Amino acid sequence: HGSYNQKIDYVFKIVLIGDSAVGKSQLLARFSRDEFNVDSKATIGVEFQTKTLDIDHKTVKAQVWDTAGQERYRAVTSAYYRGALGALLVYDITKRESFDHMARWLSELREHGNKSDLGSLRAVSTEDAKEFAQSQNVFFMETSALEATNVEPAFVSVLTEIYRIVS
Ligand code: GDP
Ligand code: MG
Repeated sequence: HGSYNQKIDYVFKIVLIGDSAVGKSQLLARFSRDEFNVDSKATIGVEFQTKTLDIDHKTVKAQVWDTAGQERYRAVTSAYYRGALGALLVYDITKRESFDHMARWLSELREHGNKSDLGSLRAVSTEDAKEFAQSQNVFFMETSALEATNVEPAFVSVLTEIYRIVS
C-alpha cells in the first residue's frame, strides 16, 4: 500500500455538507477510492474516509467526514463538525432547492455543486452559483462524481487553503 510507513506531516479533518442525495457520498468515494457506485444506497456506517496526498512537498492526510442521514437542516451534530478545518458544501445542479438551501448550510459553515454531467437537466446556472459564492467569499467549483470532473481539485483547493492557514 502506497501510504504504508509514510511520515504524515498534517492531518486535516474536513466535512461534507448539503441536502440529502446531492452526491456527497459519491464525491467522497470518487476522491478517496476513485469509485462511483451507480446503485448507491443512503450512507451507512463509516463516519469518514482518509486519503493521503502531497501539498507543497508535505504529506497531508485528509480525513473526510460524510453525513449518515443527518442532512436535515440543523440535524447534524456538533461532533460532526468538531475539529474540522474546512468543508465542502455540496448542491445538485439539477435540484434548485438544494442550491437555495446553501445559505442555511453556510450559516453553519462554508464551501462547493455536484452532477455537472447532467447539463440538460440544469436548474442552477453557473452564474448564479458563482455570484452567490463570491458574495459569501467562498470557493466555487462544479463537479461530477460520475465523470470524475473537478473532484480532486475541489478537495485539494480546500486542503491547500487549510495548509496555507496552518503552515
Ligand atoms: P448523498 O445523500 O448526498 O450522500 O448522495 P449520494 O452520493 O448517495 O448520491 C445520490 C444519488 O445521486 C445517487 O443515485 C448517485 O448515484 C447520484 N449521483 C451522485 N453524484 C453524481 C454525479 O456526479 N452525477 C450524476 N449524474 N449522479 C450522481
Ligand atoms: Mg450520503
